[in-house]
Amino acid sequence: MILLLFILTLDPRYHTRDEVAHELDSIARSYPDITMLDTIGYSSFDSIPLLGLKISDNPAADEDEPAVLYIGCHHAEEILGIEICMYMISELTSNYSTDSTITGWIDDREIWFVPLMNPDGHSVVMAPPETLWRDTTWRDNKSDNNNSGFFELEYDGVDLNRNYDFYWTEGGSTDPTSEFYIGPHSFSENETRAIRDLTYANNFTFCITYHSARYGLTEVVYFPWDWEGGFSPDFPFIRTIADTISKRIIRDSGIGYYSALPGQGLDGRARNWLYGVCGVFTYCIEVGTTTILPASMVDDLCQRNLPGAYYLLERVSECGITGHIYDSLTGEPLSAEVIIHNYYDPNLPPRKSDPQYGRFLRILKPGTYDIEIRKHGYASIYYDDMQITDGRMTEFDILMSRTGGEMPAPILQKKINVRPNPSSHNVLIEIDDGMALSSLTVYDVSGRLVKNFENPDRRVIWQGVDEQNRAVAEGIYWLLGRSEEERTIQKIVLLKGSFNQ
Ligand SMILES: [Zn+2]
Repeated sequence: MILLLFILTLDPRYHTRDEVAHELDSIARSYPDITMLDTIGYSSFDSIPLLGLKISDNPAADEDEPAVLYIGCHHAEEILGIEICMYMISELTSNYSTDSTITGWIDDREIWFVPLMNPDGHSVVMAPPETLWRDTTWRDNKSDNNNSGFFELEYDGVDLNRNYDFYWTEGGSTDPTSEFYIGPHSFSENETRAIRDLTYANNFTFCITYHSARYGLTEVVYFPWDWEGGFSPDFPFIRTIADTISKRIIRDSGIGYYSALPGQGLDGRARNWLYGVCGVFTYCIEVGTTTILPASMVDDLCQRNLPGAYYLLERVSECGITGHIYDSLTGEPLSAEVIIHNYYDPNLPPRKSDPQYGRFLRILKPGTYDIEIRKHGYASIYYDDMQITDGRMTEFDILMSRTGGEMPAPILQKKINVRPNPSSHNVLIEIDDGMALSSLTVYDVSGRLVKNFENPDRRVIWQGVDEQNRAVAEGIYWLLGRSEEERTIQKIVLLKGSFNQ
């Protein structure tokens, strides 16, 4: 009898929901400088806190850094994703400041984890063998579909990965007794609303949502989308990344790698909502050859999945465009639409720069693109045939003029570095080797010339003075560099302080 119980109980290698909570709490206490543990919502039936862990330097601040999200356990029985998230959290935090690559990621990105998105359903899978409502093949949460006041395996639960508000009625089942039940309305569940709100609050570039397959193919990286022959607008970029992720994950057998496939159908799934509505390149990875692997394989599975997960942290700075969009007059950051022509679907919500910093970030492949920046009330800006090269993000800031305004909208590759910025003392201006400047000038926000540097060198120091050598007021200034072919602009913020005159 004791032996039988042992067989029926899931191996203690697998985290219970309490163990997930305790371990996240303990990590947050051990690494307060690089982690923030957040309750992003409460589960629908048991009101268990839904925990999100952010790993980044200055974790309490929403910094101007690219963000990546990892989610485990939409589906209760697919418990391997929890283990991969917890494993990765432990690897990242414990190697901060000793591993230079990991340190760089934590310093320069905001890395979010929701390891256990479905704690209610998970408790059904992990319940002790004598529990009446135990089911190790349970998929849903525990929502009380028939309003009986208690949880019943036959009637209850919503499929969280069919509950997102993107072509919601096209997927799953409308039968509440089905394990694919889509819920009474889109975002009816606390769990999916928590992911929605977390996504709205953070400008995620990438997301991985971990699943494992009882039906269908195993060891696959799914990406959005191939829907009745219509591809997602960013398909070539998303697919190339999926290919790379899949080639980095070795199969359970030790032979060969995961495969990458476009997801068929739009149907209320997380990956399609995250991408279709929010523009987040989202990968659904069906890990392992079954939902619950022998415990002895779990560490190995986690280790084999890390290179795939880590790739997104690398890729976010490898090829594409990024920078800020500002109002040309006030210097305020703008949330403006960034359109990559030929990779654009006007039926999807616009991809915008974030309102807090004006930051835009679009993942591309090397090539030539026509880009348009658009905002109501402002003159549109077009970049024709912009060359995007590999190995780095092409960075430029954009000034948008209100319609009828006078200041031109210069564009430009960021070939001038300014530091410190903001500055309360001298500003060091360093010019890229590749740019032979014919002029370097500073303007104030009303477009008035403040300072002209004659014959600018590679390094120029601006002492915060105008042409008459008078200290200028604190505030926003624009540094404009011109060469024969190009112009580049850079925002400088002067703070009150002692300038060395
Ligand atoms: Zn699943």
